[in-house]
Amino acid sequence: MNTTKRTKIVATLGPATGSKEKIREIIELGVNVARINFSHGTHESNGQIIDYVKELRQEMGMAVGIMADLQGPRIRTVVDEDVEIEKGERIYVYDSSVEKSEILNPEIKIVGLDWPGIVADIEIGNDILIEDGLLRINVVEKGDNYLVAKVEDGGVVKNHKGVNIPDAKLKIGAVTEKDEVDLKFALGKGVDFVALSFVANAAEIIATREKIKKMLGRDEQIPLIVSKIERKEAIKNIVEIIKATDAVMVARGDLGIEMEESKVVIYQKEIISRCLRNATPVIVATQMLNSMIENPRPTRAEVSDVSNAVIDHTDSVMLSGETANGKYPAEAVRVMRDIILKTEKSPFDILAHGFLGDKSHTVSAAIAHSAHELLKDTNSKAIVAASTSGFSARMVARHRPDRPVWVMTNNESVHYQMSLVWGVETFVLPECRTLDELIDRSIDTLLKNNLVEPKERVIIVAGRPGALREHMSLVKVEEV
Ligand code: ATP
Ligand code: MG
Ligand code: MG
Repeated sequence: MNTTKRTKIVATLGPATGSKEKIREIIELGVNVARINFSHGTHESNGQIIDYVKELRQEMGMAVGIMADLQGPRIRTVVDEDVEIEKGERIYVYDSSVEKSEILNPEIKIVGLDWPGIVADIEIGNDILIEDGLLRINVVEKGDNYLVAKVEDGGVVKNHKGVNIPDAKLKIGAVTEKDEVDLKFALGKGVDFVALSFVANAAEIIATREKIKKMLGRDEQIPLIVSKIERKEAIKNIVEIIKATDAVMVARGDLGIEMEESKVVIYQKEIISRCLRNATPVIVATQMLNSMIENPRPTRAEVSDVSNAVIDHTDSVMLSGETANGKYPAEAVRVMRDIILKTEKSPFDILAHGFLGDKSHTVSAAIAHSAHELLKDTNSKAIVAASTSGFSARMVARHRPDRPVWVMTNNESVHYQMSLVWGVETFVLPECRTLDELIDRSIDTLLKNNLVEPKERVIIVAGRPGALREHMSLVKVEEV
């Protein structure tokens, strides 16, 4: 069982985990968030998986979160048949939504890109990468509706392969027409998180949040937005993105194509540390135990990768193909959980002194800090945080306390949304009118769950009950 694991696990569900029994098994092994990737599957198959998770979290009494991941603006190649291109050769690239122009020389090979208006957004000198960066062509000339590109890394261009243009400023939003349909479907299913692919800036996140509110017809109890960091633009705008988003995913797959691979690990560390400072939940994703898609055991390097992400203090680590369409989904979760447990017990998993570097001097930050100090100084059992929005829970969790963080909330959305946050376990309470009532009910809940015994001490953090905005104002040492 996963009761002592603090770092959360996000698992992508797909054909390999498509039955209710398989999903039950991996939840028991430690999956906290189920991710459904709308780049794949159908509404029918994805909807079925969401329904299973909803049934199971009810039956099992576990706060498993559900994340709908939207495909986003993914450009793909359009060719009638395979086109073999050789280093040094010049080829045409055109926008496949317009007719192939008559001026084009039929002697010259031609590749379409399925993004209307793309030619205008590409500059001379830009690299175009095809199929995960396998092929590379460089733009040397620009026409009205076509480009001439010189082949740098040759090979075979196949139809419908992913394309990356790291330096282009594409005038495309993060939410496409397909995403809009998928989003509506996911909201109808009541998902807890919506992940946005290829986010470039804060404006896209804010616009999507407004769209979600409009679609749902309400301002509250809306899913959290997870911004996937996988573009150069996003790295450039990381500060405003972290401010605007609810959570972050370091999507190392595309990031490693858009930037030098050797820099991805540095960005991972930098993004996690910024997220910690901001108390924004962060997920490390892609290829964590990749070889387990085929093999029952991971490579040493993969084990090391998971372990180091835990030491970086990420909130969550993610499984992709390992659980979506791999041969060993349950083994992958078991291995990931074991690595997390061993790493968290090791002497290396500590927040260095002054690591947070939070100079905001807000009362809430100070209360959370004091709670953590009191926890250690009074040798108390746990921190108990009352949180109606999840804010207090995140503020406490970012200190990565070595004892439990039990969060009391009256908000069912928050109950599930905290599934992504490091070290937090939530309990739903009815809304309390006074602080005394809140404390009494909290202690009652902990006693009922056999988490505390009489005479044990816990640290309580809370705000004013009924306040409009969550604001921590009180920290208290309470004896059960
Ligand atoms: P992203 O860039 O969003 O991560 P991806 O194509 O890499 O997209 P993952 O979610 O990382 O997809 O999943 C890894 C692989 O698992 C996919 O390439 C796909 O082959 C498979 N997969 C995931 N979800 C499904 C599904 N619902 N149905 C079928 N195959 C799936
Ligand atoms: Mg991706
Ligand atoms: Mg992926």
